[in-house]
Amino acid sequence: QQPAAAPARGKAGIPGIDAIVAVASGKGGVGKSTTAVNLALALKANGLRVGILDADIYGPSLPRLLDLKDRKPEIISGRTLRALDAYGVKVMSIGFLVEEETPMIWRGPMVISALNQMMREVEWGDLDILVVDMPPGTGDAQLTMAQQVPLAGAIIVSTPQDLALIDARRGLAMFQRVDVPVLGIIENMSYFLCPHCGERTDIFSHGGARKEAETLGVPFLGEVPLDLRIRETSDAGTPIVASDPESPYAKVYREVATKV
Ligand code: ADP
Repeated sequence: QQPAAAPARGKAGIPGIDAIVAVASGKGGVGKSTTAVNLALALKANGLRVGILDADIYGPSLPRLLDLKDRKPEIISGRTLRALDAYGVKVMSIGFLVEEETPMIWRGPMVISALNQMMREVEWGDLDILVVDMPPGTGDAQLTMAQQVPLAGAIIVSTPQDLALIDARRGLAMFQRVDVPVLGIIENMSYFLCPHCGERTDIFSHGGARKEAETLGVPFLGEVPLDLRIRETSDAGTPIVASDPESPYAKVYREVATKV
């Protein structure tokens, strides 16, 4: 499978990396990082060479999600770092370089400089696709990042609620402003299946993201349910796509991955 995303135009790419795709959300807590990680693993399961970059400088979560806490990347030469490996995916995060409790109080220019170092002064090896876990929101910092990273496309994660969708719409507008194609919207926490009785509950409503994607004329990539196992495996650093590839949820992520 080859990524459908076209190579970024106008911005210097990263040698050895064919396509860089952002996973973004209009606000925090909608499951952007969980989605980015499982999507990266699903792309790998579909046969691609994959890396994932934690650009969520103010709240890096990849070290925890991929069970890489307390691991430090090796310095190869000068400032160049070797990406770590988790489940066959290359990983880089600012979280490897600072303590978890250290608040990141950097201003914009330092964030950009750190981001550039994490992208360009890292030995990624040859990758078909680098997934970038973007910081949530659509403020100046996010806009600058969207401009700095040579993105082939962006995926927006939203819950089905109206409020989250309004933020998702802002996210979409932000990428359009910097000429980054939006590859589609994923509805996370789409519905809940009771593990005891099997009854389905639409906790945050349902189907809003699909409708929004239709209205905005971008692809709808799929719906991921709210499920205890997704939360538990994330917290344990054993994302569901890697730890239980036969589960229906892993299949949902793999299906989404075929559309990226
Ligand atoms: P964000 O990156 O948008 O801030 P996270 O990926 O950190 O969000 O997710 C926030 C919390 O919700 C985490 O505890 C995560 O495990 C949980 N979570 C995310 N998606 C799901 C899901 N589909 N089902 C259950 N829990 C989820």
